[in-house]
Amino acid sequence: MPVRPRVVVIGSGFGGLAAVGVLAGTGVDVVVVDRDNYHGFWPLLYQVATAGLGPDDIAAPIRAIHAGKPNVEVRMGLVCGIDPPARQVELTGGERLAYDYLIVAAGSSSADFGIPGVHRHAYTLKTLPDAVRLRNHVLSMFERAENNAVDGHPGAADLTTVVVGGGSTGVEMAGALSELISHNLAGEYRHLDVGRARVVLVEMTDTLLPGYSRRSQDAAVATLRQKGVEMRFATSLASVEPDGVTLKGGERIQAATVVWTAGVKANPLVGCLPGAKEKGGRTPVADDLSVPGHPEVFVIGDAAATRDRRGELLPQVAQVAIQGGRHAARQILRRQEGRPARAFRYRDHGTMATIGRRAAVAELPGGVTFAGTFGWLAWLAVHLVFLVGFRNRAVVLLNWAWNYLTWDRASRVILPEGTGPETTGPPAAHPG
Ligand SMILES: Cc1cc2nc3c(=O)[nH]c(=O)nc-3n(C[C@H](O)[C@H](O)[C@H](O)COP(=O)(O)OP(=O)(O)OC[C@H]3O[C@@H](n4cnc5c(N)ncnc54)[C@H](O)[C@@H]3O)c2cc1C
Repeated sequence: MPVRPRVVVIGSGFGGLAAVGVLAGTGVDVVVVDRDNYHGFWPLLYQVATAGLGPDDIAAPIRAIHAGKPNVEVRMGLVCGIDPPARQVELTGGERLAYDYLIVAAGSSSADFGIPGVHRHAYTLKTLPDAVRLRNHVLSMFERAENNAVDGHPGAADLTTVVVGGGSTGVEMAGALSELISHNLAGEYRHLDVGRARVVLVEMTDTLLPGYSRRSQDAAVATLRQKGVEMRFATSLASVEPDGVTLKGGERIQAATVVWTAGVKANPLVGCLPGAKEKGGRTPVADDLSVPGHPEVFVIGDAAATRDRRGELLPQVAQVAIQGGRHAARQILRRQEGRPARAFRYRDHGTMATIGRRAAVAELPGGVTFAGTFGWLAWLAVHLVFLVGFRNRAVVLLNWAWNYLTWDRASRVILPEGTGPETTGPPAAHPG
């Protein structure tokens, strides 16, 4: 019997999942390694952080996704090294997995740009534990403020959140948080003047949603302003302290919660691959998405510096990862058939961001834009279609319908944190 080549896929996010989808049922053996046992749908992470959805609603177990695919094996483990000359990846604990082909789809993590205090005091939003931690913290701060108010010492800072970064995650986070506060928390605290709660969004450019049309940007600013979100433009953080932030111009904002959505860097794992790294630590790839000098190694998604036909760096978004994953997998199958590799061509299907209830902006290729209710409905439909798992789609749809009719944000359980047997909370931050 001919030996079947082994493809190791690091990461089961958008890119890794798409790659395995192509390789399932073919003549190669696939081993998918992920540090988590689930595939996470990050575009809805802010809804977990703002109590609109529960963590399980936006995650699907990787084993369940690949059950029934005989040539796909799933391993839960943290990859800590790649050894291209030996064609092996190393897991923490020392185990090594040999590969004939490797697809690196390990995504990205938050970058703090060296700003003092971000790493220590700000909440990031890149993983499910991040979202649960942030939700816990915001709700706990309201509880603390209520207790202080009972004692006659209301603390306005406890009710203040600074969101840093006016990209889609920052806008979605600020919009949803202001709705949570004004429509849910406002009616539930007897001693607290929740009207004093502030959501302040800080953006270094002069508007929101960089990369969108001016019309969409203006719509986002107007909608957030209407929701009571304060905005500071053309300024950035000088530092984050335990009790707030200091802006470059000297303004100090006292806040118990700082959410950092401003920076992304490629997963440090790509440091194991040869070649000088590009902006944000992304690894350069050839036009077929393989690593120059290593045609058996492909890097896709957020970790790769993928370019379009004009040589422009593609954004770190889900569609780039999905299309890249499918392309890399197809090139492996072509190589197996002795056919030459093809260049990757990205198809832009457009981009969208939601700003809150019945408010979203959607931009399609060819300059077609939607805003308001229509944009919001388009956003709901697209996110439901791409969410993995029938159960998740059904639960999310039900949650959204319930929330729309009642304004209720039901996932407001404050979970204890920790990893020991004495607690049941989410695990500590990922090392990688
Ligand atoms: C809050 C948020 C909102 C977003 N909203 C949008 C949006 O609205 N639209 C859009 O298009 N894009 C959005 N994005 C970006 C989009 O999610 C990413 O571009 C996309 O996930 C990249 O896919 P990927 O496969 O490269 O990485 P990911 O999908 O992040 O997958 C990486 C996988 O690798 C695993 N992994 C990482 N390191 C290791 C390791 N060392 N060992 C083993 N496994 C590892 C991770 O557990 C994860 O499963 C958003 C991202 C975030 C964080």
